Amino acid sequence: MTDSAALVRPDRRAELAAGLARVRARIADACAAAGRDRAEVTMIAVTKTYPAADVVALAGLGVTDVGENRDQEAAAKAGEVAAAGVTPRWHFIGRLQRNKVKSVIRYADVVQSVDSVRLASALDVAATAGRDRPLDVLVQVSIDADPARGGTVPDSADPDVGLGPVAAAVAAAPGLRLAGLMAVAPLGWEPERAFDRLAAVAAAFRSDHPQAVALSAGMSGDLEAAIGHGATHVRVGSALLGMRPTLR
Ligand SMILES: *Cc1c(COP(=O)(O)O)cnc(C)c1O
Repeated sequence: MTDSAALVRPDRRAELAAGLARVRARIADACAAAGRDRAEVTMIAVTKTYPAADVVALAGLGVTDVGENRDQEAAAKAGEVAAAGVTPRWHFIGRLQRNKVKSVIRYADVVQSVDSVRLASALDVAATAGRDRPLDVLVQVSIDADPARGGTVPDSADPDVGLGPVAAAVAAAPGLRLAGLMAVAPLGWEPERAFDRLAAVAAAFRSDHPQAVALSAGMSGDLEAAIGHGATHVRVGSALLGMRPTLR
């Protein structure tokens, strides 16, 4: 543990501990308000733009799941964190280009942003060749049915971006395990309305794929609404680690 990532400054550790306590309290309150068991909701710490040392510190505070949205940054960070002897579960949550899948399958435990049959196929080929067990996959849903910002379209039979075809492709891929759905509330939408619609999409999806129960929804600004509508995973960045210097 002589690697730089292991050297967590005490003031930063205290700051992260305080952020974590606040976020955990919000999650617990939201579960109580929704009549849900706290153990049903996993918090993913979204560490994009923050250093490996923060991941190491968060792991020391009991955080088990980490999210990243850019391959280049995530690959380097995962390497540094592993060198410090820490092994969180890495969730890839950003837009993913097919030329990055070989890299992503080396460190990611879960890819949450699969939104086309072509991407699912590329991940399957890479995971089959490069991993010793299947890669967990969440299919990303576009709540407003506008695939421009990523996500599959519910109720679309479009063979490349329809939720049904993409989920079927993941379910049939030997290198992948269909674990559930992920979504981001569309800009300008009231979170209650967005996650209410998502819950309906998830219910229909689970009638086709009963094992795929994960629902990744909710971020720093809207995790309460997401938990109220059945989220099993919330992805929390700024409320935990502080405001990022640039929005992305
Ligand atoms: C950055 C990001 C988050 C975390 O956002 P915060 O508002 O900082 O909590 C969650 N999900 C995705 C897909 C992200 O890119």
